[in-house]
Amino acid sequence: MATVTREPSLEAPQNHLGFARRSYFSRMAGLALGFVMTSAVFIQNAAPAWMWIGPALHCFVGPHVAWWLARRAANPREAERRNLLADHFLGGVWIVLMQFNLLPSVLAVSLLSMDTMAGGGVRLVVRGLAFQLVGVLLGVAFWGLHVQPDAVRWTVLACLPLLVCQPILISHIARKAIHRLKQQSRALEHQSQHDGLSGLYNRSHWEQLVRAEFARFRRQGEPAVLVMADLDHFKRINDLHGHAAGDQAICRFASALQRVLRETDVCGRYGGEEFGVLLPMTSAAAAQEVLDRLRRDLHDQQLLDGTLVTASFGVAELTADVPNVEAWLRLADQMLYRAKHRGRDCVVVLGEEGATQPDALVSASARPSYSTPALITDPLRVSQLLIGLDISEAPFALFDPSDRLAVANPAFISLYAVQNDTVSFADIIRNSYRHQVGPRIETDDIDAWLRAADGKRRSQPQRNFLVDIVDGRWFHLFETSYSDGWLMVLLFETSPPTASIQPAAATVLG
Ligand code: GH3
Ligand code: MG
Ligand code: MG
Repeated sequence: MATVTREPSLEAPQNHLGFARRSYFSRMAGLALGFVMTSAVFIQNAAPAWMWIGPALHCFVGPHVAWWLARRAANPREAERRNLLADHFLGGVWIVLMQFNLLPSVLAVSLLSMDTMAGGGVRLVVRGLAFQLVGVLLGVAFWGLHVQPDAVRWTVLACLPLLVCQPILISHIARKAIHRLKQQSRALEHQSQHDGLSGLYNRSHWEQLVRAEFARFRRQGEPAVLVMADLDHFKRINDLHGHAAGDQAICRFASALQRVLRETDVCGRYGGEEFGVLLPMTSAAAAQEVLDRLRRDLHDQQLLDGTLVTASFGVAELTADVPNVEAWLRLADQMLYRAKHRGRDCVVVLGEEGATQPDALVSASARPSYSTPALITDPLRVSQLLIGLDISEAPFALFDPSDRLAVANPAFISLYAVQNDTVSFADIIRNSYRHQVGPRIETDDIDAWLRAADGKRRSQPQRNFLVDIVDGRWFHLFETSYSDGWLMVLLFETSPPTASIQPAAATVLG
């Protein structure tokens, strides 16, 4: 008689053949020992030679046939279950041939059931026992009922290898399966908490950690800082260098974060090219210092070979008036938003936005493109001018030669309701027209309107006109198109409809 040992069904669905493969080896071992036991009974009963043929084929050819069937099956696990049922059925037939010799028959039932339990659970055991019963009934119908339950000593001895080895084999395989299951569950846990590309925590786990830390810091009154970081002009990086290069920059940024920050700082990929960092036991001033070091690091160790990729940072320190994690995240996000509109490649700290470095106000990509001599020869003056415009109430924006928004101050963002994904002046106008915010535009065809405005801009590089805002306010708009393609837009609030104010900034730039 023979049994097959297999491990419990723990594999992932795509690993079904692995299950059949391990069954192959354990079936070979189990059936070989089973043949020793069956042979002893046949010798005890002086069974005719033909009676050996069936068990011999089952024990020595059966494992290869079972493996072959599993390999060619669309669903190897299902095929392996069918193999187990076949083992049970044949086990039933061999019980009849062994004339119900008690010890081998009991072993045939119990060890085969152990296999099916491990391979398919209670339902498969019940089906297996049913198949075994059918095997017994067919065997009796074919050869008649001969009962010889007593085993002589050497038959008992021949059962021992199977009796001893089979449980050891099953325990060994079960132990291996448990070990693999632990590994799988550790890998799954890691996968569910980390971002596949950067290796940092993913958004949901990072937020969970921030939530836990928030409660602790609030309870103990310890300082903590939340940072939101976003790579600058990343769409352009993807467009110019390809998505794979973009991915590489994301990975290198994650490494830079880990290099510069402490082990206790909690970094996560918030989404896309946006990152969140929790700095425990840190003041806003200390965070600013660390992030400035990180900014310098990004300049020294470029995220993309030969191309400067910068990042902007928004910093919010935890204070008593921050009611919950959502509000804390929002504050850091708002600071990041400001950092973007201060020209990127800078750090904006909640409550001390003035701390932003002046040279960060002109974005790295915008800096070399100015053609006006004053801007090239005196970047400090430009920075000071831009700081003034940034904190002024006058909406102000600069567009680069490909019509992308390079710099805009909060007043401009708010007046035109600029969205995160609007990059060109045309996009901004389309958006405000569609949502009925910002300038009032009377037209049925916004694209034709934009084309006409573009034509006017070309024929008249320096224009100024009155703009009627949807909420009833009026602005005097100064639009300057530079010879190298840059466009400056500056607005001053005025009383309707004729007042005109000469803009100081436009005079300087023009
Ligand atoms: P800003 O300086 O204002 O942040 O400009 P931006 O171009 O970075 O603007 P935004 O944040 O809106 O664009 C993010 C882009 O990042 C959009 C998307 O194409 C790209 N991106 C998001 N996730 C991935 C990613 O996993 N890999 C790569 N290569 N690109 C990504
Ligand atoms: Mg970005
Ligand atoms: Mg982004």
